[in-house]
Amino acid sequence: MNFQLAPVYLDLQKEAAVVAARVEPMAVEADGMSTLHEGVRQALADSHLWELLVPKAHGGRFEAVDPLAVAVVREVLMGVSSHADSLFALQGIGSYAISVGGSPEQKAQWLPKVALGESLAALGLTEPVAGSDLKSLTTTLTQGSADTLVLNGSKAFISNGGVADFYSVLAKDEDGFTLVLVPADSPGLSWTLTPEIIAPHVLADLTFDNIVLPASAILGRRKAGLELVLATLSVFRVSVAGACLGVASAALREASDHAHTREQFGKPLARHGPVAEMLADSWTELEAARLLTYRAAELAQTNPAGTLHHSSMAKLFASEAAGRIVDRGVQIMGRWGLIRDSKMERLYRQARPMRIYEGASSVLRLSIARELPREMNS
Ligand SMILES: Cc1cc2nc3c(=O)[nH]c(=O)nc-3n(C[C@H](O)[C@H](O)[C@H](O)COP(=O)(O)OP(=O)(O)OC[C@H]3O[C@@H](n4cnc5c(N)ncnc54)[C@H](O)[C@@H]3O)c2cc1C
Repeated sequence: MNFQLAPVYLDLQKEAAVVAARVEPMAVEADGMSTLHEGVRQALADSHLWELLVPKAHGGRFEAVDPLAVAVVREVLMGVSSHADSLFALQGIGSYAISVGGSPEQKAQWLPKVALGESLAALGLTEPVAGSDLKSLTTTLTQGSADTLVLNGSKAFISNGGVADFYSVLAKDEDGFTLVLVPADSPGLSWTLTPEIIAPHVLADLTFDNIVLPASAILGRRKAGLELVLATLSVFRVSVAGACLGVASAALREASDHAHTREQFGKPLARHGPVAEMLADSWTELEAARLLTYRAAELAQTNPAGTLHHSSMAKLFASEAAGRIVDRGVQIMGRWGLIRDSKMERLYRQARPMRIYEGASSVLRLSIARELPREMNS
């Protein structure tokens, strides 16, 4: 067992660190926006990191999207800017169904542009009513003329909503669910900004009003849309754990710097037992989260669907640990941890949604527990 990242991933960390350094001066502004920050977009485009999110055959860097590569890059970007992290990852989350299930025409039309950042991608699953219970969604896909389909309904809280060039949308299709590719300029598609959340994020609610799509808009097989959604989660859920590591390690660095320089009662805060204990617990949890994440990401390289429970464990543990680590960080910083838009205050807000999206913690616990008998009996 080798606990070191291979050189290719260490190089990627360095590559991401260069982009992160460029983004850092824009981070407070970008992370406060619910719309696209052009400077961050340009920095990502110039970096060519989006190549990691499509297969080599269509302008990508590796043969297939590598979950460990994505997780490692998200860790670095998220430590500096949630806007940069999200903009990076969404290119994969929104386009992965094309990479693994798209027709040759769909791949040729969209993936090279996704790799270059010329087209922004998004994935539309959540609806005003349907959240964790995805199968309760009500957006419908019905037959139009012989070779057209009609999409009606709405989606809510869609990352990259309003700025994406296309949406991969899951819709109810008679007794199944079909994923369709909806170009953003489709007549009948409109959007409004989602109410701003505690850590602003590019989010919009979409309405589909009798959108007529060609039959060729179907991604993969008709009524097999959930398979492609599962494939996407299998590769990208663990990358959220990677982003959580970024939040946690940035918070620990801030807290440690502060605790070792600020003195109270005649010695640095870090030399007071309870503060040292908080720092030690945070470091320990960060290390544990990192090992779990890298291992799950490595497992997902070869058998993403078969090891989704490991990705779920990594996402559950890393997001919950990040929440605890930033909370301790604020406590250690005292009043400075509360200053609006200070590093720690931003991390505190940014950690919170991570325990909800791409699998809320309690829902992940249920799916992990369901897998346990199989693991025990194997
Ligand atoms: C920043 C952000 C970005 C997002 N981006 C996207 C996107 O790009 N595309 C998209 O489709 N969606 C997106 N979402 C939506 C996200 O996927 C949903 O918020 C998530 O699936 C949870 O659904 P919900 O919010 O409706 O919560 P609900 O499903 O209503 O759940 C609320 C809470 O109830 C509990 N709960 C629910 N079901 C169970 C259960 N069976 N057992 C135990 N506890 C349960 C959990 O604690 C959960 O936190 C985004 C959300 C956020 C915050």
